[in-house]
Amino acid sequence: MKKTDEFRGKTVVITGGGGILCQSFARTLAERGARVAILDLNGEAARAVAQEILAAGGEALGVEANVLDADSLKRAHEAISIAFGPCDILINGAGGNHPKGTTSQEYLLKEHLKEEAVTTFFDLDPVGIQFVFDLNFLGTFLPTREFALDMVEKEQGVVLNVSSMSSLRPLTRIPAYSGAKSAVSNFTQWLAVYFAKVGIRVNALAPGFFLTDQNRSLLTSEDGGLTARGNTIIAHTPMQRFGTAADLDGALLWLCGSDSAFVTGVVIPIDGGFSAYSGV
Ligand code: NAD
Repeated sequence: MKKTDEFRGKTVVITGGGGILCQSFARTLAERGARVAILDLNGEAARAVAQEILAAGGEALGVEANVLDADSLKRAHEAISIAFGPCDILINGAGGNHPKGTTSQEYLLKEHLKEEAVTTFFDLDPVGIQFVFDLNFLGTFLPTREFALDMVEKEQGVVLNVSSMSSLRPLTRIPAYSGAKSAVSNFTQWLAVYFAKVGIRVNALAPGFFLTDQNRSLLTSEDGGLTARGNTIIAHTPMQRFGTAADLDGALLWLCGSDSAFVTGVVIPIDGGFSAYSGV
């Protein structure tokens, strides 16, 4: 399993670690010697990822935890402290969208107001909007409040948030997700300043389009081809493809490691050029 010893002795806590992108982060860091604690609401998924890392000779612990429940995070923290000691690196990966915060069309046409099957802006449900803001923003705030205290004690540490390319310019149809990820990016800068004098660096990844369970049905059709939205995305991505989890590894390792010792408060788009391209 081991590639280098770069993260030997470091305890890394990864929320959402049972999901597609964050389980890849867990493997990548474990391969470099880190002890990885994989937190997920889906305890089975977290334990399965940990099991796989252990079987490959790495050090990992799967923990069921809810990033929106302070008590659940406290319990997870206690279990991790016993197994691995204090947290050195926190990756806030849990996040996502909700159908009740998503319009079905990119633009409003007057006739949509009479069409049952169309979800317009006027049909959006505050419950969906709240869910998305809570999961992405509070779900970053609460784990940071729980785990960054270990780093203050050592006067050293790294927090890596997972924002989104849609925080830079909102994508159509997902106002809540785009707004919530903008809040994550903004909070990344706020925390970077606030923690600067206690040796904690805070940065964020802003992934573009990566095929995962969250968006597979939006971007691909059952025959394996692309949906209209999938085609539009590829047409607006200068590199002409979706990202893969491994595309995040370079920025992940750099921001978690000592080569970025003077870097804090940055949000790095990893999107094949999508956010740089105006479409013309
Ligand atoms: P995913 O759905 O595969 O993983 C998310 C994980 O978070 C899941 O395992 C889920 O169980 C867990 N989770 C959900 N609610 C939780 C809670 N309350 N407490 C603890 N865990 C919880 O998604 P992914 O695509 O791997 O996304 C990972 C991160 O990357 C998310 O923050 C997402 O918004 C962001 N992101 C993804 C993309 C993409 O294209 N996939 C693009 C930009 C940003």
